[in-house]
Amino acid sequence: MQPRLHVEALDLFEILPGPIAATLQRNVPLKDLCTLRVGGNADWLLTAETTDVLGEAVAAVQRVNYPYIVLGEGSNILPADAGFRGLVVINRTRSIELGALVRVDTGISFMMLAFAAMRAGLSGLEWAVGIPGTLGGALVSNAGAYRGNIGPLVERVEVVESGDRRWESRDWMEFSYRDSRLRRCSERPACILRADLLVTPDAVPVIRSRARDFQRQRISKQPWIPSAGSFFKNVNDPVLANKLTGLPEPLRKAGVVPAAYLSEAAGCKGLRVGGAMVANRHANFLVNTGTATARDILAAAEIVRQRVRTMFNVELEAEVLLVGDWDKLG
Ligand SMILES: Cc1cc2nc3c(=O)[nH]c(=O)nc-3n(C[C@H](O)[C@H](O)[C@H](O)COP(=O)(O)OP(=O)(O)OC[C@H]3O[C@@H](n4cnc5c(N)ncnc54)[C@H](O)[C@@H]3O)c2cc1C
Repeated sequence: MQPRLHVEALDLFEILPGPIAATLQRNVPLKDLCTLRVGGNADWLLTAETTDVLGEAVAAVQRVNYPYIVLGEGSNILPADAGFRGLVVINRTRSIELGALVRVDTGISFMMLAFAAMRAGLSGLEWAVGIPGTLGGALVSNAGAYRGNIGPLVERVEVVESGDRRWESRDWMEFSYRDSRLRRCSERPACILRADLLVTPDAVPVIRSRARDFQRQRISKQPWIPSAGSFFKNVNDPVLANKLTGLPEPLRKAGVVPAAYLSEAAGCKGLRVGGAMVANRHANFLVNTGTATARDILAAAEIVRQRVRTMFNVELEAEVLLVGDWDKLG
C-alpha cells in the first residue's frame, strides 16, 4: 500500500490565505454533508460563499498538491467510514445572472436554478426540478432526467486547475452519459467555479406545466429515505434490450436497459446488508434505513452487481462516487 501523505494542521494554515484559513473547521463528520448520511470525519472543512474564496482556496491547495475535494450537497457520493484525510471545500456560491445566456455560480442548488430560469421564462432546465445537489455536482456527472442532460446546455465553464483559473469550452468537459472528464481524474481534480448555460425563451405557464409533469413522475417513483439517487448507471446494450420482456418500447428502441430493471429482475428489491437496503420502491436506489455504515451500502451494491452479472452477464457501473479513505477501514 502507498504511504499516505500525513497532513499537519500547520500546513493548511500556511497554504491558505489568512482570512480563508481563519474560517477552517476541524474534524467534521461527512455524514452531515451527504444525503446518504454515512461516512467518517473530514480532517478539515471550509465553506466557500463566493467564487473568489472558492477559487483562491482551491488554487492554493492545488499548487502544493494538498489532498482536497469540493462538495456541493453530497447527493452523489458514498464517503468512507474512515473519512477523508485532507480538506473538504463546501461550495455555497450562488450568484446568478439570468438571460438567454445564464451565468451562474456552481454552488447554486440545481433545483433553485431550474425555478429561477422558469420564473424568468427561460426553458431548458424543466427536467432538473426534483434533482437534489448543486450545479457543480450536476456538471461533473452530466446530470439528467427524462431525456434532458445538463451537458448540451453548457456554453463554457470557469475552472481552477493546477492553480490556474480560466474559462474552458463545453468540449473541454468531455460530457457523455452521466460522465465528464472530472469524474475520470481523481488525482488532481479541477474545480468548476461558474458556468454559462444556453437556455431558450418560452412562456412561463408552458415551462411550469412541463416541470410539474416531470416532478409528478419523480414523486411517484422515488423513495424518500436517505440515498444518493440511482446507484448504478443504466446500461446501453441494444442486444440485451431486445431480449428482455416488459421493457418499455422507447427504451427497447434506444437500446437502453435501466439498472433498476436488472436489479429487480435479479431479485434485489428489499435486499439488506446491516442498515443498507435496496429500496422496494426503486431497485436502483440503495437507501440508509438509519443505521447503515458506508461499508454496508457498498456491500449491498456489490451483491446487486454480482447478481446482475450472474443473471445477465452485464457489469453495472456505479453512478455514485466513492469519496475518502476507502483503503483503510472502508
Ligand atoms: C433522491 C435523489 C435523486 C436523484 N436524482 C437524480 C437524477 O434524476 N438525475 C441525476 O443525474 N442525478 C440524480 N441524483 C444524483 C445527484 O443529485 C446529482 O448527481 C447531483 O448533480 C449531485 O450534485 P451535488 O452537489 O450533490 O454533488 P456532490 O455529491 O457534492 O459531488 C459529486 C461529485 O462532484 C464533485 N463536485 C461537486 N461540485 C464540484 C465543483 N464545483 N467542481 C468540481 N467538482 C465538483 C465532487 O467532488 C464529487 O466528486 C439524485 C440524487 C438523489 C439523492
